[in-house]
Amino acid sequence: MAPSRVLRCCQRGLSWIPVIFINLVVCWSYYAYVVQLCICEYQRPRVRVIYLVVFHVCFVMFMWSYWKTIISKPSNPSKEFFLPKAEKEQYEKEERPEAQQEILKKVAKNLPIYTRTGSGAIRYCDCCQLIKPDRCHHCSTCDQCVLKMDHHCPWVNNCVGFSNYKFFVLFLAYSMLYCVFIASTVLQYFIKFWTNQIDTHAKFHVLFLFFVAAMFFVSIMSLFTYHIWLIAKNMTTIGLRAPVFRNGPDKNGFTVGFYKNLTQVFGDQKRYWCLPVYTSLGDGYTFPTRLVNLDSEQGNVDHQCVIYSSVDGQVNSRPLSDSLNHLLSNDVHSDEQKDSNSAKTDNGLTVTVTMESES
Ligand SMILES: [Zn+2]
Ligand SMILES: [Zn+2]
Repeated sequence: MAPSRVLRCCQRGLSWIPVIFINLVVCWSYYAYVVQLCICEYQRPRVRVIYLVVFHVCFVMFMWSYWKTIISKPSNPSKEFFLPKAEKEQYEKEERPEAQQEILKKVAKNLPIYTRTGSGAIRYCDCCQLIKPDRCHHCSTCDQCVLKMDHHCPWVNNCVGFSNYKFFVLFLAYSMLYCVFIASTVLQYFIKFWTNQIDTHAKFHVLFLFFVAAMFFVSIMSLFTYHIWLIAKNMTTIGLRAPVFRNGPDKNGFTVGFYKNLTQVFGDQKRYWCLPVYTSLGDGYTFPTRLVNLDSEQGNVDHQCVIYSSVDGQVNSRPLSDSLNHLLSNDVHSDEQKDSNSAKTDNGLTVTVTMESES
């Protein structure tokens, strides 16, 4: 085996250490709470049952959202965003940046790309050799471009982005709930042990349960609050700097109002908001912006929705005919008055054009 491959294998193995650590802590907390505390310590059977039921609900939701965040493959740009062979050769031969930009502009013409680099150039990934869709970034850890990338999280050993952002936020919420429930129910025993009112073999577990739960709760709460703020503003960790659109930077360019920002991540059906099942709106390529009236091409988005085929079937992407117009429209019910038809673009993409009915 080549040394570089061995190194990569080692790196891949080591990257699972934080995940293993979290799972070991959770396994221990389960044993300490259920076996040591509930079964061996709690005297009143009714309280014991209530504690066990609530604990298991928190535990299942926490683990479910955690593992969904880990196992969800990051969404990558589809093949349409890669340079065609001829343009790629031309791009590689060309040394002048202006001429390279012209090649990229020609390819990007048929793509729904509204953001630019700080200098106004088309965003291109040299590693993946593709034109980056809006809000897509290259993750150096995963060595791939990830749609609506938020950040690479070592605790889930995965990129947090379009395919799993909802799961990640739910994971933070349920881990917080798990910690706060443990800390609050263990507190009475914690005080008794400190004041030497009781002394049992569970002392070690109780002390550590309280400390670990309280410590994790405080650190997760700050992260959770931060992500709720990001969702409310429709921003991402990696995209904290104002995104640059064709007519200039706009910090709040993707903000379309608190509720609509929220539905982009959690979906428009409230009954699924608390479940780690995929309900995020959109396809990860195009996003409603508040600049539709300033950018002549984006203006068309108000009436025309471009839908790109799902990325390798990794994500059950919701059609933008639902989401984009739905999010842009002030009148939710106007969605019912739309006609749809499909067509193919020059580069073979399936495009669905949704026109608002005149009537
Ligand atoms: Zn890339
Ligand atoms: Zn990554």
